[in-house]
Amino acid sequence: MATIEWRSPASEMAVQQFDIAAEKLKLDKNVAGRLRRPDRALIVSVPTRMDDGRVHVFTGYRVQHNDVLGPFKGGIRYHPDVNLGEVSALAMWMTWKCSLVGLPLGGAKGGIACDPRRLSRNELQGMTRRYTAEILNFIGPEVDIPAPDMGTNDQVMAWVMDTYSQHRGYAVPGVVTGKPVDIGGTVGRREATGRGVVYMIMEAAEHLGIDLGKCTAAVQGLGNVGMTTARELAALGVKIVGASDTSGGVWNAQGLAVHDLALYKEKNGYLKGFPSGESLSGTEILEIKCDILIPAASEMQITAGNAPRLKCRILAEGANGPTTPEADRMLSENGVFVIPDILANAGGVIVSYFEWVQDLQNFFWTEDEVRNRLRGILNRAFQEVLSMSQKEKVDMRLAALIIGVRRVARAMLWRGLYA
Ligand code: GLU
Repeated sequence: MATIEWRSPASEMAVQQFDIAAEKLKLDKNVAGRLRRPDRALIVSVPTRMDDGRVHVFTGYRVQHNDVLGPFKGGIRYHPDVNLGEVSALAMWMTWKCSLVGLPLGGAKGGIACDPRRLSRNELQGMTRRYTAEILNFIGPEVDIPAPDMGTNDQVMAWVMDTYSQHRGYAVPGVVTGKPVDIGGTVGRREATGRGVVYMIMEAAEHLGIDLGKCTAAVQGLGNVGMTTARELAALGVKIVGASDTSGGVWNAQGLAVHDLALYKEKNGYLKGFPSGESLSGTEILEIKCDILIPAASEMQITAGNAPRLKCRILAEGANGPTTPEADRMLSENGVFVIPDILANAGGVIVSYFEWVQDLQNFFWTEDEVRNRLRGILNRAFQEVLSMSQKEKVDMRLAALIIGVRRVARAMLWRGLYA
């Protein structure tokens, strides 16, 4: 994204990854030029009445990267660091993710620069409703379907759905996914991303001939994705030796009880001070000795600076964009098997797709149907990426990007340029 408006460390990184894939694919130059930038972006002011009576103006974004395969799809992030460049990078990654796993959806992302933990429920609701009103003509079940991301959840999606529906004059459940089941959400969406990460770790372990029952794992970021991943890995007999959140981390070579971590977090809001283990920082956790490392926090955590010190065999990216291209090269040299973000965390958007389909058909599935279909799609994608990486002698990230970008490029060439 050469133009100054899009520029940020995350967007430069997303474009760098894309350029590597485009070169390997010998991608049509005209197509490549279009894909380096989003289709469109909207920046909105979100005036919000705070509890003390003041009106605070937040800045919100919605970036739509590419919709050649179908309506735009992607989460809404509430975090102090949200900016146009970050949201653009995340939107681009959504395009490759949806394409890689074969969904008829394009890539988008949205967000508001705010700290949701410092907002009251009332403030959060007001901000969400006004943001929705500001982007109203950009979204819709046939246009662009938001979902949860970092800092947002099913309640936030319920407010988005309600605001949109109030404006339309009737209930439109298909405008967002990740809603509560009571208002048209699907069973299994909340756990979908973490569950998908675990399915991909299982595939990787099988491919590498590793017995998961003898493995240790560390999770950076005990949010929705990290917590589900830790819980489901523990259920498979994996020993969780490290975990962290924004407040810091905890390490215990004897293993941490995920149930206790969850209870402690629920009670205190943070992991800091968790009694049974040694405390360390959220970046130190990446360097502890473990078989499986799961970065499930934010972008660019694994860089040229710390990549050589990683001691894991499998790196399963629960977060979007946690590893920089320089770090990728080092990990590949050190024999770390990377399950790239657009594959590892695709479970979330896959079940979002299921939710959208169910809403459009007004016909709902069982949890078993959701789980089995999710597993089928992800395992097939894993095998496709693995074959591509073996055939082209490239790492798993490049293999995944090649498949994701190629499908989008083909569709663009079929559809042609409207002028
Ligand atoms: N925010 C999630 C992601 O980064 C899910 C997006 C969705 O479900 O649309 O993949």
